[in-house]
Amino acid sequence: MEGRRALVRVDFNVPVRDGVVTDDTRIRAALPTIRRLKDLGSRVVILSHLGRPSGGGPELNYSLRPVSRTLETLLGSPVTFIEDPVQADAIRTTRQMPRGAVALVENTRFQPGEETNDAATAERFAALGDFFVNDAFGSAHRAHASTEGVAHLLKPAVAGLLMERELEYLGGVLAHPDRPFVAVLGGVKISGKIEVIRNLLPLVDHVLVGGAMAATFFRAKGAGTGASLVEEDRVELAAELLARAADKIVLPDGAVVAEALDRSDARREVAWDALPDGWAMYDIDRPTCERFAAIITGAKTVVWNGPMGVFETPPFDEGTAAIARAMADATAAGAVTVVGGGDSVAAIAELGLADRVSHVSTGGGASLEFLEGRVLPGVAALDRRVA
Ligand code: ADP
Ligand code: MG
Repeated sequence: MEGRRALVRVDFNVPVRDGVVTDDTRIRAALPTIRRLKDLGSRVVILSHLGRPSGGGPELNYSLRPVSRTLETLLGSPVTFIEDPVQADAIRTTRQMPRGAVALVENTRFQPGEETNDAATAERFAALGDFFVNDAFGSAHRAHASTEGVAHLLKPAVAGLLMERELEYLGGVLAHPDRPFVAVLGGVKISGKIEVIRNLLPLVDHVLVGGAMAATFFRAKGAGTGASLVEEDRVELAAELLARAADKIVLPDGAVVAEALDRSDARREVAWDALPDGWAMYDIDRPTCERFAAIITGAKTVVWNGPMGVFETPPFDEGTAAIARAMADATAAGAVTVVGGGDSVAAIAELGLADRVSHVSTGGGASLEFLEGRVLPGVAALDRRVA
């Protein structure tokens, strides 16, 4: 690898406010791979996306420039910023970098061909490196030019250290889970996650359902759900899952409801089938916290994705906090525990419990798809063996 250009796809999709990175967790997560390549004398050329720009060219709000500054600080060495990977001097820059130097390429999603996995776009990215390292587990479930396309063009195409850790952990959970194996699912991305429940059911002993998703299940059981978030077109699937696996699916007994998020002063705990008209469910109720916690602490393998309530707005954070504490307790008792999902990871980090679970996954959607047993295109495109 010495002297060769390592094209490294990372996940620097971090929050940026007023041109400043407000959470550098994902940048720090990629440092071991970057440092290893630097130490080996590679010229390190980094690719990442940030947010969801329109794909029609540069947009200031989604520039990786602030990330470049944070990366410089964390590495303690300069980072060359490559504004336009399509320009001929971008290739020259990567060739003229000293060994061990680092360059960061502007947001891959500024290229119209990134998300369509356009071949010419992949070739342009590939021209910036001599071999490929994919350390972006969080983007591996998407076949984009910088994750999948480029892996076919540069050899070897290998996993970075972060990717390796994710695959070992999640793969281990799947290959031989100690039982009971419990999945805890919540959050708001109902349509995606209800599919996950369907696919996880054969693998797990219990699925605990919280968050906004629970209301869709309450509706499937015939209850009124007031002003709670419900995905109408998933009610039928929820009913089907309940009919098929009522013994495995554990729903909340009740909910913390309020007329609005800012009316927590007048919040109430009600049974799942007694949500008042016009009121919305913002958290799981206390008996549910206890029941879920008991199932989690009795488990040997737990995967958790999605907060139990609107944890950003206390006091609706109590259900999520109870689950996080139960995860830590289960870990202390010897269980393998994995947390995934941007908001769930933020919640457990905020509670200071992130280092008391076995593994905090950097990929929300990717970790779920992996656990479901789906092939992640960004992983599948990597070499099986490197000569
Ligand atoms: P993750 O990022 O962990 O995968 P999601 O993105 O699916 O999780 O969901 C996180 C969001 O879900 C949080 O912003 C939280 O406020 C919201 N949420 C959780 N429960 C509810 C609820 N009952 N009603 C509305 N929003 C909820
Ligand atoms: Mg989220």
